[in-house]
Amino acid sequence: MTEKASVVVIGGGIVGTAIAYYLTIKGQRDVVVLEKNYLSSGSTGRCAGGIRQQWSEPSNVRLAMRSVRHFESFKKELGADIEYVQGGYLLLAFDEEEETLFRNNVEMQKKEGLEVSILSVDEVKKRFPYIVVDDVKSASFCPTDGHANPHLANFAYARAAKKNGAWIYTHTRALGIDVENGQITGVETDRGYIKTGVVVNAAGGFSRQVGLLAGVDIPTESYRHQIMVTEPLEHILDPMIISFSRNFYMRQTVSGNIMMGQGDEDEKPSFNHDPSWRFLTQMSKKMPGLFPFLEKVRVLRHWAGLYNMSPDAQPIIDKAEDVSDYYCAVGFSGHGFMLAPAVGEGLADWIIDGSPKEVDLSNLGLDRFTGEVKREKNVV
Ligand SMILES: Cc1cc2nc3c(=O)[nH]c(=O)nc-3n(C[C@H](O)[C@H](O)[C@H](O)COP(=O)(O)OP(=O)(O)OC[C@H]3O[C@@H](n4cnc5c(N)ncnc54)[C@H](O)[C@@H]3O)c2cc1C
Repeated sequence: MTEKASVVVIGGGIVGTAIAYYLTIKGQRDVVVLEKNYLSSGSTGRCAGGIRQQWSEPSNVRLAMRSVRHFESFKKELGADIEYVQGGYLLLAFDEEEETLFRNNVEMQKKEGLEVSILSVDEVKKRFPYIVVDDVKSASFCPTDGHANPHLANFAYARAAKKNGAWIYTHTRALGIDVENGQITGVETDRGYIKTGVVVNAAGGFSRQVGLLAGVDIPTESYRHQIMVTEPLEHILDPMIISFSRNFYMRQTVSGNIMMGQGDEDEKPSFNHDPSWRFLTQMSKKMPGLFPFLEKVRVLRHWAGLYNMSPDAQPIIDKAEDVSDYYCAVGFSGHGFMLAPAVGEGLADWIIDGSPKEVDLSNLGLDRFTGEVKREKNVV
Protein backbone atom coordinates (compact mmCIF):
# COMPACT_ATOMS: atom_id res chain seq x y z
CA MET A 1 0.00 0.00 0.00
CA THR A 2 1.20 3.49 -0.79
CA GLU A 3 2.52 5.54 2.15
CA LYS A 4 1.35 8.90 0.85
CA ALA A 5 -1.41 10.31 -1.31
CA SER A 6 -2.53 13.70 -2.57
CA VAL A 7 -6.19 12.87 -1.81
CA VAL A 8 -7.70 10.00 0.20
CA VAL A 9 -11.32 9.22 -0.64
CA ILE A 10 -13.04 7.15 2.05
CA GLY A 11 -15.76 4.98 0.47
CA GLY A 12 -15.74 2.84 -2.67
CA GLY A 13 -19.38 3.34 -3.65
CA ILE A 14 -20.58 5.25 -6.71
CA VAL A 15 -19.84 8.62 -5.10
CA GLY A 16 -16.28 7.85 -3.97
CA THR A 17 -15.30 6.18 -7.23
CA ALA A 18 -16.90 8.96 -9.34
CA ILE A 19 -14.90 11.55 -7.38
CA ALA A 20 -11.71 9.50 -7.87
CA TYR A 21 -12.45 9.17 -11.59
CA TYR A 22 -12.98 12.90 -12.10
CA LEU A 23 -9.93 13.75 -10.00
CA THR A 24 -7.76 11.54 -12.22
CA ILE A 25 -9.12 12.75 -15.55
CA LYS A 26 -8.54 16.32 -14.39
CA GLY A 27 -4.90 15.40 -13.80
CA GLN A 28 -4.74 14.74 -10.05
CA ARG A 29 -2.06 12.16 -9.26
CA ASP A 30 -1.70 9.88 -6.24
CA VAL A 31 -5.41 9.54 -5.50
CA VAL A 32 -6.40 6.76 -3.08
CA VAL A 33 -9.83 5.20 -2.54
CA LEU A 34 -10.33 3.22 0.69
CA GLU A 35 -13.18 0.71 0.80
CA LYS A 36 -13.68 -1.37 3.95
CA ASN A 37 -15.52 -4.15 2.09
CA TYR A 38 -15.72 -4.76 -1.66
CA LEU A 39 -16.64 -2.15 -4.27
CA SER A 40 -20.40 -1.55 -4.46
CA SER A 41 -20.99 -3.38 -1.15
CA GLY A 42 -22.73 -0.37 0.40
CA SER A 43 -25.92 1.43 -0.63
CA THR A 44 -24.86 1.60 -4.27
CA GLY A 45 -25.00 -2.15 -4.80
CA ARG A 46 -28.35 -2.29 -3.01
CA CYS A 47 -30.11 0.53 -4.83
CA ALA A 48 -32.69 0.54 -7.61
CA GLY A 49 -30.56 2.45 -10.11
CA GLY A 50 -33.25 5.03 -10.85
CA ILE A 51 -32.11 8.23 -12.58
CA ARG A 52 -34.69 10.99 -12.17
CA GLN A 53 -34.59 14.71 -12.81
CA GLN A 54 -38.10 15.41 -11.47
CA TRP A 55 -37.44 16.89 -8.03
CA SER A 56 -39.16 19.54 -5.95
CA GLU A 57 -35.93 21.36 -5.09
CA PRO A 58 -34.22 23.22 -7.99
CA SER A 59 -30.71 22.28 -6.82
CA ASN A 60 -31.59 18.58 -7.10
CA VAL A 61 -33.08 19.17 -10.59
CA ARG A 62 -29.89 20.91 -11.74
CA LEU A 63 -27.57 18.23 -10.33
CA ALA A 64 -29.68 15.43 -11.80
CA MET A 65 -29.84 17.13 -15.23
CA ARG A 66 -26.08 17.48 -15.26
CA SER A 67 -25.67 13.85 -14.19
CA VAL A 68 -27.98 12.71 -17.00
CA ARG A 69 -25.67 14.39 -19.50
CA HIS A 70 -22.84 12.27 -18.06
CA PHE A 71 -24.92 9.07 -18.08
CA GLU A 72 -25.74 9.74 -21.74
CA SER A 73 -22.06 9.82 -22.65
CA PHE A 74 -20.96 7.20 -20.10
CA LYS A 75 -20.50 4.37 -22.61
CA LYS A 76 -18.43 6.50 -24.96
CA GLU A 77 -16.40 8.16 -22.23
CA LEU A 78 -15.72 5.17 -19.97
CA GLY A 79 -16.12 2.34 -22.48
CA ALA A 80 -18.60 0.53 -20.25
CA ASP A 81 -22.14 -0.67 -20.84
CA ILE A 82 -24.00 0.06 -17.62
CA GLU A 83 -27.44 -1.02 -18.92
CA TYR A 84 -28.48 2.62 -19.15
CA VAL A 85 -32.08 2.95 -20.36
CA GLN A 86 -33.85 6.29 -20.89
CA GLY A 87 -37.41 4.99 -20.69
CA GLY A 88 -38.67 7.96 -18.67
CA TYR A 89 -40.00 8.25 -15.15
CA LEU A 90 -43.72 8.37 -14.43
CA LEU A 91 -44.78 10.04 -11.17
CA LEU A 92 -48.37 9.14 -10.35
CA ALA A 93 -50.59 11.66 -8.52
CA PHE A 94 -53.39 10.17 -6.40
CA ASP A 95 -54.91 13.27 -4.81
CA GLU A 96 -55.29 17.00 -5.30
CA GLU A 97 -52.33 17.83 -3.08
CA GLU A 98 -50.04 15.74 -5.26
CA GLU A 99 -51.52 17.19 -8.43
CA THR A 100 -50.76 20.71 -7.23
CA LEU A 101 -47.26 19.70 -6.12
CA PHE A 102 -46.51 18.10 -9.50
CA ARG A 103 -47.91 21.05 -11.45
CA ASN A 104 -45.74 23.49 -9.47
CA ASN A 105 -42.73 21.20 -9.80
CA VAL A 106 -43.18 20.86 -13.56
CA GLU A 107 -43.34 24.63 -13.94
CA MET A 108 -40.09 25.02 -11.97
CA GLN A 109 -38.42 22.07 -13.76
CA LYS A 110 -39.29 23.54 -17.17
CA LYS A 111 -37.67 26.82 -16.12
CA GLU A 112 -34.54 24.78 -15.34
CA GLY A 113 -34.69 23.51 -18.95
CA LEU A 114 -36.10 20.03 -18.32
CA GLU A 115 -38.35 18.34 -20.88
CA VAL A 116 -41.23 17.31 -18.63
CA SER A 117 -45.03 17.37 -18.77
CA ILE A 118 -48.23 16.63 -16.90
CA LEU A 119 -50.22 13.71 -18.32
CA SER A 120 -53.99 13.46 -17.86
CA VAL A 121 -55.37 10.21 -16.54
CA ASP A 122 -56.55 9.30 -20.07
CA GLU A 123 -53.05 9.82 -21.41
CA VAL A 124 -51.64 7.63 -18.62
CA LYS A 125 -54.17 4.92 -19.49
CA LYS A 126 -53.37 5.09 -23.19
CA ARG A 127 -49.60 5.12 -22.87
CA PHE A 128 -49.29 2.70 -19.94
CA PRO A 129 -52.28 0.34 -20.23
CA TYR A 130 -50.91 -2.09 -17.63
CA ILE A 131 -51.64 0.40 -14.78
CA VAL A 132 -55.03 0.33 -13.03
CA VAL A 133 -55.80 4.04 -13.14
CA ASP A 134 -59.06 4.04 -11.09
CA ASP A 135 -57.55 6.19 -8.32
CA VAL A 136 -54.94 8.01 -10.42
CA LYS A 137 -55.66 11.73 -10.91
CA SER A 138 -52.81 12.65 -13.28
CA ALA A 139 -49.06 12.12 -13.62
CA SER A 140 -45.81 13.89 -14.28
CA PHE A 141 -43.53 12.39 -16.95
CA CYS A 142 -40.00 13.09 -18.12
CA PRO A 143 -38.82 11.02 -21.12
CA THR A 144 -35.08 11.52 -20.49
CA ASP A 145 -35.22 10.02 -16.99
CA GLY A 146 -34.37 6.34 -16.71
CA HIS A 147 -32.27 3.80 -14.88
CA ALA A 148 -28.98 1.91 -15.00
CA ASN A 149 -27.22 -0.98 -13.29
CA PRO A 150 -25.50 0.50 -10.21
CA HIS A 151 -22.90 -2.28 -9.85
CA LEU A 152 -21.73 -1.84 -13.42
CA ALA A 153 -21.51 1.95 -13.03
CA ASN A 154 -19.62 1.69 -9.72
CA PHE A 155 -17.10 -0.76 -11.16
CA ALA A 156 -16.74 1.28 -14.36
CA TYR A 157 -15.75 4.41 -12.41
CA ALA A 158 -13.34 2.39 -10.25
CA ARG A 159 -11.73 0.70 -13.26
CA ALA A 160 -11.34 4.00 -15.11
CA ALA A 161 -9.89 5.76 -12.05
CA LYS A 162 -7.45 2.88 -11.57
CA LYS A 163 -6.45 2.98 -15.22
CA ASN A 164 -5.74 6.70 -14.79
CA GLY A 165 -3.43 5.99 -11.86
CA ALA A 166 -5.63 5.94 -8.74
CA TRP A 167 -5.06 3.30 -6.07
CA ILE A 168 -8.24 1.51 -5.07
CA TYR A 169 -7.77 -0.41 -1.81
CA THR A 170 -10.67 -2.71 -1.02
CA HIS A 171 -11.01 -4.50 2.35
CA THR A 172 -9.20 -1.52 3.84
CA ARG A 173 -10.92 0.45 6.57
CA ALA A 174 -10.17 4.05 7.55
CA LEU A 175 -9.75 3.96 11.34
CA GLY A 176 -8.60 7.49 12.09
CA ILE A 177 -7.82 10.85 10.52
CA ASP A 178 -4.98 12.87 12.02
CA VAL A 179 -5.48 16.62 12.19
CA GLU A 180 -2.79 19.03 13.43
CA ASN A 181 -3.61 22.72 13.87
CA GLY A 182 -6.71 22.32 11.72
CA GLN A 183 -4.81 20.65 8.88
CA ILE A 184 -5.14 16.97 7.92
CA THR A 185 -1.84 15.09 8.11
CA GLY A 186 -2.80 11.49 7.42
CA VAL A 187 -5.24 8.58 7.52
CA GLU A 188 -4.80 5.51 9.70
CA THR A 189 -6.13 2.32 8.10
CA ASP A 190 -6.19 -1.31 9.20
CA ARG A 191 -3.51 -1.95 6.56
CA GLY A 192 -1.16 0.92 7.35
CA TYR A 193 -0.79 4.69 7.47
CA ILE A 194 -1.21 7.08 4.50
CA LYS A 195 0.17 10.60 4.73
CA THR A 196 -2.16 13.07 3.05
CA GLY A 197 -3.42 16.63 3.34
CA VAL A 198 -6.83 16.07 1.72
CA VAL A 199 -9.63 13.68 2.71
CA VAL A 200 -13.03 13.15 1.08
CA ASN A 201 -15.79 11.56 3.14
CA ALA A 202 -17.83 9.45 0.69
CA ALA A 203 -18.72 6.83 3.29
CA GLY A 204 -22.45 6.60 2.49
CA GLY A 205 -24.39 5.18 5.45
CA PHE A 206 -21.33 5.68 7.69
CA SER A 207 -20.79 9.36 6.86
CA ARG A 208 -21.33 10.60 10.40
CA GLN A 209 -18.80 8.13 11.83
CA VAL A 210 -16.20 9.03 9.20
CA GLY A 211 -16.86 12.74 9.90
CA LEU A 212 -16.15 12.18 13.57
CA LEU A 213 -12.79 10.55 12.73
CA ALA A 214 -11.65 14.12 11.93
CA GLY A 215 -13.84 15.82 14.54
CA VAL A 216 -16.35 17.03 11.92
CA ASP A 217 -19.95 16.58 13.05
CA ILE A 218 -22.15 15.86 10.02
CA PRO A 219 -25.92 15.82 10.70
CA THR A 220 -26.77 12.60 8.88
CA GLU A 221 -28.53 9.42 9.97
CA SER A 222 -29.01 6.12 8.21
CA TYR A 223 -32.26 4.23 7.70
CA ARG A 224 -32.92 0.77 6.31
CA HIS A 225 -34.70 0.62 2.95
CA GLN A 226 -35.65 -2.58 1.15
CA ILE A 227 -36.13 -3.83 -2.39
CA MET A 228 -37.50 -7.00 -3.89
CA VAL A 229 -36.99 -8.48 -7.33
CA THR A 230 -39.21 -10.85 -9.28
CA GLU A 231 -38.43 -13.55 -11.77
CA PRO A 232 -37.82 -12.18 -15.29
CA LEU A 233 -40.85 -11.27 -17.41
CA GLU A 234 -41.29 -10.31 -21.05
CA HIS A 235 -40.47 -6.65 -21.53
CA ILE A 236 -43.41 -4.57 -20.31
CA LEU A 237 -42.17 -1.46 -18.51
CA ASP A 238 -40.35 1.32 -20.29
CA PRO A 239 -40.49 3.95 -17.57
CA MET A 240 -39.63 3.70 -13.93
CA ILE A 241 -42.88 4.32 -12.02
CA ILE A 242 -43.14 5.98 -8.63
CA SER A 243 -45.77 7.22 -6.20
CA PHE A 244 -45.03 9.23 -3.06
CA SER A 245 -48.49 8.88 -1.47
CA ARG A 246 -48.78 5.15 -2.30
CA ASN A 247 -45.15 4.79 -1.28
CA PHE A 248 -43.53 2.67 -4.00
CA TYR A 249 -41.20 2.70 -6.97
CA MET A 250 -40.79 0.08 -9.64
CA ARG A 251 -38.74 -0.62 -12.74
CA GLN A 252 -37.86 -3.48 -15.06
CA THR A 253 -34.22 -4.48 -15.49
CA VAL A 254 -32.81 -5.24 -18.93
CA SER A 255 -32.95 -8.94 -17.97
CA GLY A 256 -36.70 -8.61 -17.40
CA ASN A 257 -36.86 -8.71 -13.58
CA ILE A 258 -39.25 -6.28 -11.92
CA MET A 259 -37.50 -4.44 -9.10
CA MET A 260 -39.61 -2.57 -6.52
CA GLY A 261 -39.31 -0.90 -3.16
CA GLN A 262 -40.98 1.32 -0.61
CA GLY A 263 -40.05 3.39 2.44
CA ASP A 264 -41.16 2.58 6.01
CA GLU A 265 -42.18 5.47 8.28
CA ASP A 266 -41.67 3.32 11.39
CA GLU A 267 -38.03 2.64 10.57
CA LYS A 268 -35.62 4.09 13.17
CA PRO A 269 -32.06 5.22 12.37
CA SER A 270 -29.76 2.19 12.36
CA PHE A 271 -27.26 0.19 10.30
CA ASN A 272 -29.73 -2.69 10.04
CA HIS A 273 -29.37 -4.57 6.75
CA ASP A 274 -31.79 -7.40 7.54
CA PRO A 275 -34.62 -7.90 5.04
CA SER A 276 -38.04 -8.14 6.77
CA TRP A 277 -41.21 -10.19 6.22
CA ARG A 278 -43.21 -7.04 6.87
CA PHE A 279 -41.74 -5.43 3.74
CA LEU A 280 -42.25 -8.54 1.64
CA THR A 281 -45.87 -9.00 2.64
CA GLN A 282 -46.76 -5.30 2.34
CA MET A 283 -45.27 -5.02 -1.15
CA SER A 284 -46.73 -8.32 -2.34
CA LYS A 285 -50.21 -7.23 -1.24
CA LYS A 286 -49.99 -3.65 -2.50
CA MET A 287 -48.45 -3.89 -5.94
CA PRO A 288 -50.75 -6.29 -7.87
CA GLY A 289 -53.74 -3.98 -7.13
CA LEU A 290 -52.17 -1.29 -9.31
CA PHE A 291 -50.23 -3.62 -11.61
CA PRO A 292 -52.31 -6.80 -12.16
CA PHE A 293 -49.55 -8.38 -14.29
CA LEU A 294 -47.65 -8.91 -11.00
CA GLU A 295 -50.32 -11.15 -9.52
CA LYS A 296 -48.84 -14.57 -10.23
CA VAL A 297 -45.22 -13.53 -10.47
CA ARG A 298 -42.65 -15.14 -8.19
CA VAL A 299 -40.28 -13.12 -6.02
CA LEU A 300 -36.66 -14.11 -6.54
CA ARG A 301 -34.73 -12.02 -4.07
CA HIS A 302 -35.12 -9.33 -1.45
CA TRP A 303 -32.49 -7.23 0.31
CA ALA A 304 -31.93 -4.10 2.39
CA GLY A 305 -29.56 -1.14 2.24
CA LEU A 306 -29.15 2.25 3.88
CA TYR A 307 -30.52 5.68 2.97
CA ASN A 308 -28.07 8.20 4.45
CA MET A 309 -30.42 11.06 5.34
CA SER A 310 -29.67 14.72 5.93
CA PRO A 311 -32.34 16.84 7.70
CA ASP A 312 -33.72 18.11 4.35
CA ALA A 313 -33.28 14.89 2.32
CA GLN A 314 -30.76 16.62 0.05
CA PRO A 315 -27.06 15.80 -0.09
CA ILE A 316 -24.41 17.60 1.92
CA ILE A 317 -21.50 18.47 -0.34
CA ASP A 318 -19.10 20.80 1.33
CA LYS A 319 -15.69 21.53 2.75
CA ALA A 320 -15.46 21.58 6.56
CA GLU A 321 -15.00 24.92 8.36
CA ASP A 322 -12.56 23.90 11.08
CA VAL A 323 -10.55 21.17 9.37
CA SER A 324 -9.01 22.40 6.18
CA ASP A 325 -9.26 20.19 3.10
CA TYR A 326 -11.81 17.84 4.64
CA TYR A 327 -14.58 17.44 2.05
CA CYS A 328 -17.81 15.52 2.34
CA ALA A 329 -20.24 14.16 -0.25
CA VAL A 330 -22.85 12.46 1.90
CA GLY A 331 -26.52 12.41 2.97
CA PHE A 332 -27.85 11.45 -0.45
CA SER A 333 -31.12 10.00 0.81
CA GLY A 334 -32.56 7.88 -2.04
CA HIS A 335 -30.80 9.70 -4.86
CA GLY A 336 -27.05 9.32 -4.57
CA PHE A 337 -26.65 6.95 -7.48
CA MET A 338 -28.21 9.36 -9.96
CA LEU A 339 -26.40 12.45 -8.62
CA ALA A 340 -22.93 10.87 -8.39
CA PRO A 341 -21.59 11.92 -11.82
CA ALA A 342 -22.28 15.65 -11.31
CA VAL A 343 -21.13 15.50 -7.69
CA GLY A 344 -17.92 13.71 -8.71
CA GLU A 345 -17.22 16.32 -11.35
CA GLY A 346 -17.96 19.28 -9.07
CA LEU A 347 -16.02 18.00 -6.09
CA ALA A 348 -12.98 17.15 -8.23
CA ASP A 349 -12.97 20.73 -9.55
CA TRP A 350 -13.35 22.08 -6.03
CA ILE A 351 -10.39 20.04 -4.75
CA ILE A 352 -8.13 20.82 -7.70
CA ASP A 353 -9.14 24.38 -8.59
CA GLY A 354 -10.79 25.70 -5.44
CA SER A 355 -14.37 25.83 -6.75
CA PRO A 356 -16.94 23.38 -8.21
CA LYS A 357 -16.98 25.51 -11.40
CA GLU A 358 -20.13 24.81 -13.48
CA VAL A 359 -21.63 22.35 -10.97
CA ASP A 360 -23.90 24.27 -8.61
CA LEU A 361 -23.28 22.97 -5.09
CA SER A 362 -24.11 26.28 -3.43
CA ASN A 363 -27.25 25.14 -1.55
CA LEU A 364 -25.74 21.94 -0.24
CA GLY A 365 -23.48 23.23 2.55
CA LEU A 366 -23.05 21.88 6.07
CA ASP A 367 -24.25 25.16 7.59
CA ARG A 368 -27.73 25.22 6.00
CA PHE A 369 -29.58 23.47 8.85
CA THR A 370 -29.62 26.30 11.39
CA GLY A 371 -32.89 28.00 10.37
CA GLU A 372 -36.02 26.56 8.79
CA VAL A 373 -35.28 23.38 6.85
CA LYS A 374 -36.92 23.07 3.41
CA ARG A 375 -37.24 19.39 2.69
CA GLU A 376 -37.11 17.73 -0.73
CA LYS A 377 -40.66 16.39 -1.18
CA ASN A 378 -40.21 13.95 -4.06
CA VAL A 379 -38.76 11.13 -1.98
CA VAL A 380 -39.96 7.59 -1.26
C1 LIG B 1 -33.14 0.28 -1.31
C2 LIG B 1 -32.48 1.49 -1.91
C3 LIG B 1 -32.91 1.99 -3.13
C4 LIG B 1 -32.29 3.11 -3.70
N1 LIG B 1 -32.67 3.52 -4.94
C5 LIG B 1 -31.99 4.54 -5.52
C6 LIG B 1 -32.30 4.93 -6.85
O1 LIG B 1 -33.18 4.37 -7.51
N2 LIG B 1 -31.58 5.95 -7.40
C7 LIG B 1 -30.60 6.62 -6.71
O2 LIG B 1 -30.01 7.55 -7.24
N3 LIG B 1 -30.29 6.24 -5.45
C8 LIG B 1 -30.95 5.24 -4.84
N4 LIG B 1 -30.63 4.87 -3.57
C9 LIG B 1 -29.64 5.66 -2.84
C10 LIG B 1 -28.25 5.29 -3.28
O3 LIG B 1 -28.06 3.91 -3.15
C11 LIG B 1 -27.20 6.03 -2.45
O4 LIG B 1 -27.56 7.38 -2.29
C12 LIG B 1 -25.85 5.94 -3.13
O5 LIG B 1 -25.55 4.60 -3.44
C13 LIG B 1 -24.80 6.53 -2.23
O6 LIG B 1 -23.54 6.19 -2.77
P1 LIG B 1 -22.27 6.32 -1.87
O7 LIG B 1 -21.09 6.00 -2.69
O8 LIG B 1 -22.30 7.64 -1.16
O9 LIG B 1 -22.50 5.26 -0.69
P2 LIG B 1 -22.18 3.70 -0.63
O10 LIG B 1 -22.49 3.01 -1.89
O11 LIG B 1 -22.81 3.20 0.61
O12 LIG B 1 -20.60 3.69 -0.49
C14 LIG B 1 -19.97 4.08 0.71
C15 LIG B 1 -18.89 3.07 0.99
O13 LIG B 1 -18.10 3.54 2.07
C16 LIG B 1 -17.58 2.40 2.71
N5 LIG B 1 -17.09 2.81 4.03
C17 LIG B 1 -17.83 3.28 5.07
N6 LIG B 1 -17.02 3.55 6.12
C18 LIG B 1 -15.74 3.26 5.72
C19 LIG B 1 -14.48 3.32 6.36
N7 LIG B 1 -14.33 3.74 7.63
N8 LIG B 1 -13.38 2.96 5.66
C20 LIG B 1 -13.50 2.53 4.36
N9 LIG B 1 -14.68 2.43 3.71
C21 LIG B 1 -15.78 2.80 4.39
C22 LIG B 1 -18.77 1.46 2.76
O14 LIG B 1 -18.36 0.12 2.92
C23 LIG B 1 -19.44 1.72 1.44
O15 LIG B 1 -19.10 0.75 0.45
C24 LIG B 1 -31.22 3.75 -2.99
C25 LIG B 1 -30.79 3.23 -1.77
C26 LIG B 1 -31.39 2.11 -1.23
C27 LIG B 1 -30.89 1.57 0.08
